[in-house]
Amino acid sequence: MARPIVIGLEVHLQLVTRTKLFCSCSTDYIGRKPNTNVCPICLAVPGTLPLLNDGAVALASRMGLGLHCEIQNYSTFGRKNYFYADLAKAYQITQYELPVATRGYLDIECEGRAKRVRIHHLHLEEDAGKLVHPTADGRLTGAAYSLVDYNRGGVPLTEVVSEPDMSSPAEAKEYVMRLRQLARYLDVSDGEMESGSLRVDANISLSNADGSLGTRVEIKNMNSLKALERALEYEITRQNKVLDSGGRIVQETRLWDDAEGVTRSMRNKETASDYRYYPEMDLAPVVIGDAEIDGYRGAMPELPWEKRERFAKSFGLSGEEVSILTEQKELAAFYEAVVASGAPTARAANWVRMEVLRVLNELGQDIRDFRVKPSVLADLVTRVEKKELSSTIGKEMLDALARNDLTLDEALERSGARVGRLSGDALGELIKRIISEQPDVVQTIKSGQDKKGGKLKFLQGLVMKEARGQADPQETAALLSKFLAG
Ligand SMILES: [Zn+2]
Repeated sequence: MARPIVIGLEVHLQLVTRTKLFCSCSTDYIGRKPNTNVCPICLAVPGTLPLLNDGAVALASRMGLGLHCEIQNYSTFGRKNYFYADLAKAYQITQYELPVATRGYLDIECEGRAKRVRIHHLHLEEDAGKLVHPTADGRLTGAAYSLVDYNRGGVPLTEVVSEPDMSSPAEAKEYVMRLRQLARYLDVSDGEMESGSLRVDANISLSNADGSLGTRVEIKNMNSLKALERALEYEITRQNKVLDSGGRIVQETRLWDDAEGVTRSMRNKETASDYRYYPEMDLAPVVIGDAEIDGYRGAMPELPWEKRERFAKSFGLSGEEVSILTEQKELAAFYEAVVASGAPTARAANWVRMEVLRVLNELGQDIRDFRVKPSVLADLVTRVEKKELSSTIGKEMLDALARNDLTLDEALERSGARVGRLSGDALGELIKRIISEQPDVVQTIKSGQDKKGGKLKFLQGLVMKEARGQADPQETAALLSKFLAG
């Protein structure tokens, strides 16, 4: 029998403050010259004192409320001691005994099943610097030496620690996606895994036959959602093999190697006592009054699940449509603005979900960079809906508008598209001309040799092409038959 899988995740989110957690250095460190975004405080020069950034406390509280946590009136900082080159102080200032928020949950849905993942707590801490390895792939393996860059040191993070409530790699991935979505909805973090503003460590174990928990292994160094899933899959297989052959799982930290697709033992898992935690005497406890918590609560925006419910109700959209449109709040706002500008809800949903996302994907853009204003898309959708434009022309116009600063009318004029439908006598004239230009084809059809109708289709295709999508296929077919018979 398969051993039940038990997964808990620790997710670090970089908070979107302007300055670091305990000094006034900028948090905008990416791409800067190494060791220029530092000061005596984040370099831990003796005699300096940290000063807490209230903005970071506010953001962590907001995230805590989004996760249905209890925000603590009183929380404290401690020192987590370890010696590593990326940490100038040789200790990290973090919340340990009394974190800012505790006991929450996040509801997810995976493979059609709803699941509640409990949140143990959420705490504030400072980030460490970065080691730079001068190898071709930037990895430590094979490096003759390593350099250290403290620009990131002291950047505020909130760590969200879940209970071990996930039972598959797919659930773990879904949880991270929903957590990231929440952080983005709340403007707490940009949640980019590639740039490291969202980092995930996983704890995974396989339960014993009697239902008791197995030995847990921590996995680090997963830099994408795909890597998270792969690393967990790998680890499940590895642990099962060890147990099947009568072996024992060692409690340890393993590093995911994305290129090789394996996890490797890094070190035996530290226990809390290894870190010799002790209170940070340089910082006063964080006190958040009830009024302040109420203030944060009152300032909460619409949350992802609230938006999903409202979209389903107000716009009559399917579950899948709703989840695509609300995945990013900016896309949801764009859709709402298109509807507010008069486009029918279902049509607008189709256009945004299919065409807008297609164009953004082609251009490598985000909805925030999209050139087409919601009112312009609404105009386009409405004109297609009224059959003033064919949907083919509509899509071409969207492509043109997304790439150039044009009005819809300018784009139509520039493309030479016939505005309005081509039908009746005008369509008849076009068909007559094409018939006259294709005497051989017409002869084949008239002599009854076009048994499969391929030649007729060919003529129809020529007409549709010349009409630039403005002709109705059924009317075209009817007129073609009429003229060929005549
Ligand atoms: Zn600093």
